[in-house]
Amino acid sequence: MHGFTLTYDRFDPAEEGLREALTSTGNGYFCTRGAAEWEEADGVHYPGTYAHDVYNRETTIMGGWPVPNEDLVTLPNWLLLALRIDGDEPIRLENIELLSYRHELDVRCAVVLRELRVRDRAGRESTLRSRRFVSMARMHQAAIAWTLTPHNWSGTVEVISALDGRVMNRGVARYRQLEGRHLDGGGVRTFGSDVIALKSRTRQSSIEIAEAARTRVYGEEGELEVARRTYQTEDYIQQVLTFDVREEVPVRVEKMVALYTSRDRAITEPLRNAEKSVTRYLAFDEALEEHARAWEDLWRVCDIRIPREERVQFLLRLHISHILQVCSRFTPYQDAGVPARGLNGEAYRGHVFWDELYVYPFLSFRLPQITRGLLMYRYRRLGEARAAALEAGYRGAMYPWQSGSDGQEETQVAHLNPVSGLWEPDLSRNQRHVNAAIFYNIWHYYQATEDVGFLRDHGAEMMLEIARFWSSIAHFNPDRERWEIHGVMGPDEFHEKYPTAAEGGLRNNAYTNVMVAWICDTAQKVLDLLPASRREGLMAQLRLGEEELARWGEISRKTFVPFHGEGIISQFEGYEELEELDWEDYRARYANIQRLDRILRAEGNDPNRYKLAKQADTVMLFFLFPEDELRQIFLKLGYEYAPDTAQRNIDYYQRRTSHGSTLSFITHAGVLASVDPESSWERFIVALESDISDIQGGTTKEGIHLGVMSGTLDLVQRVYAGTEIRDDLLRFTPRLIDRLDGLSFPMQFRGTHITVTLEGDKLTLLADADGASRPIRVCVGEQIRELSAGDCCTFDLVEQAAVEQAAVEQAAVARSER
Ligand code: BGC
Repeated sequence: MHGFTLTYDRFDPAEEGLREALTSTGNGYFCTRGAAEWEEADGVHYPGTYAHDVYNRETTIMGGWPVPNEDLVTLPNWLLLALRIDGDEPIRLENIELLSYRHELDVRCAVVLRELRVRDRAGRESTLRSRRFVSMARMHQAAIAWTLTPHNWSGTVEVISALDGRVMNRGVARYRQLEGRHLDGGGVRTFGSDVIALKSRTRQSSIEIAEAARTRVYGEEGELEVARRTYQTEDYIQQVLTFDVREEVPVRVEKMVALYTSRDRAITEPLRNAEKSVTRYLAFDEALEEHARAWEDLWRVCDIRIPREERVQFLLRLHISHILQVCSRFTPYQDAGVPARGLNGEAYRGHVFWDELYVYPFLSFRLPQITRGLLMYRYRRLGEARAAALEAGYRGAMYPWQSGSDGQEETQVAHLNPVSGLWEPDLSRNQRHVNAAIFYNIWHYYQATEDVGFLRDHGAEMMLEIARFWSSIAHFNPDRERWEIHGVMGPDEFHEKYPTAAEGGLRNNAYTNVMVAWICDTAQKVLDLLPASRREGLMAQLRLGEEELARWGEISRKTFVPFHGEGIISQFEGYEELEELDWEDYRARYANIQRLDRILRAEGNDPNRYKLAKQADTVMLFFLFPEDELRQIFLKLGYEYAPDTAQRNIDYYQRRTSHGSTLSFITHAGVLASVDPESSWERFIVALESDISDIQGGTTKEGIHLGVMSGTLDLVQRVYAGTEIRDDLLRFTPRLIDRLDGLSFPMQFRGTHITVTLEGDKLTLLADADGASRPIRVCVGEQIRELSAGDCCTFDLVEQAAVEQAAVEQAAVARSER
């Protein structure tokens, strides 16, 4: 690992899957795992390519029962490039001796490189250098360049360049019993002498995917004349290029590829456009230059510099690179949501969860048009969400826990426990809190951008329909004189139901209820923000009357929040009656207890019985809201919010959380920053390392954790630099300023681009000298300044740091007294 490069210098079959996921290359339209070009899917290699929104639904019959599943489809493999020397079998990692090996991702422009010096069975030594990328400059373009140098031999080589539509979704071992065939062959073609092309169609959703590849060979003096033979079937096409090579004379093979689908705009038909494009593509080096320039432009607005922390610096950049590979400037042209595991693998079947909540803060302050585009994924599925609410007996819009093509609920009814090998019921669809996240995301996007147009035309409608859903699922309990919500679960997936209940769902999940109170309050503000004519129009269209608004007002003041012990917010009603788990015993018996649910179930036990959590649940509240705002919500609800409420609850749940979702490290790092910054930093580091070191032992090879990667960036921005929007002000409360010394990043707030720099005990904000931007108001502590284009202001942090330090010390005393 150096500056901008992730490097592996030894081939390790056991790690190859993980490395493929981490060295994927993508452009926010499609993404391809970092598999070696010449390898096909087997137990070690998995050359998957995925594009936003190419889903397909298939049904598997299991034990006589139909089990439907929708998957993000593995697209035809465009990588295939293999080398045969003097008629021998094609070179593979298993049949040669590796004299040296390097596999790298250039994080700066998502170029994947492999350089091998090999000795084959006949004793021939050769160097093969492969570089490839999926272009950030041209949405449909991908490219591979090989440089082959024979060292102790001269002879005839054959390069096999293929497009393979015979692929299946086989990337996740747990899902292999489920139908993985998603593609039908749609025919193959050749164009001119050097282009091959292939079309496939998804079996149920009828999406066409076309790929065209142009393969050329270059010597020192330009393109070489090579003999070509083509072999083809309905779903596979290859061209074999035969040519002579001479000892120590390098030759270059370039494969330029175009990928289109029938979902694209401005096309006539995917195959025709793939062919047209590929014949027009420039040669590799020029294409790479364009691609690198497009990345440079992205880094200008997305980089985060943290000069004192080398490893942190590298990992933050790795994460930025991966986020942009999945969510780029191209993404808003697609019907794209945020797949929890990126476009890098098949875990969670490419579905969209609530993880967006962790992804948008980074994007909204840099490339807000991408957040806007991704929020439109939800808007286009509003009809389906309305139908789901209605079908469940509610009103408004009820978005699904797992979303795919058309926005229907995609959560499975059963999932495989890899510890026990048994299929277990999956009740996680009761995580209705995804609807609170969507509401929150729109509100936050609006706060960061003041994009009134989006709010007016799309955002408000979703928000009001979500508020309406919550108000309809809530009921009034006259005994308590409070509104309650039953039958749902919070983010903690270890608690799906009460231990002895047959039905799934819990009563009054505190996180959900508080979010609902906030939503019902904020919905009114949303209405107030709309121009009068749109407000009236929307209210008429939704038949939203005063009576319903009054009910929302009631809910914002009188929703029930359960408590137990001394000021502990119960995760849900009845939580205090659960048993304590013997954590020491489990830690002693199992090397990793993050997935305690699987362990307990495999022991014949039930996680629902215990006070334990997979991930932050109640603690989410302290993560999502600045303390003052949360206090206001509780006070409005008529509950006490003491100075130590946050700390007490964080301590309580921290001791009972196994972090079985790595998202939990982000949340806990976030909430600890103001009271225990060193512990916060420790969790931040765990989150930073979680994918690169695959801390869950085998999950990252199935796809990166996009929410966690973005969450680490959000921690730097929102928690350590302490950026928050309150009352139209952009406020900074820097923490851990010694560690962060030299931290610098660009961001934009409501259209104004600024550079934030932390140096010594000074925070400097420099607004771009861009005439188009509007003045914004920024502040640190009590000092408020206005920034116009070209302005620079510096805040002294000494006083601020003293206040922070006092809070940390006070918290430490309080902790030791408990
Ligand atoms: C977590 C969820 C998350 C999902 C997808 C699960 O393990 O518990 O909170 O949305 O993974 O990342």
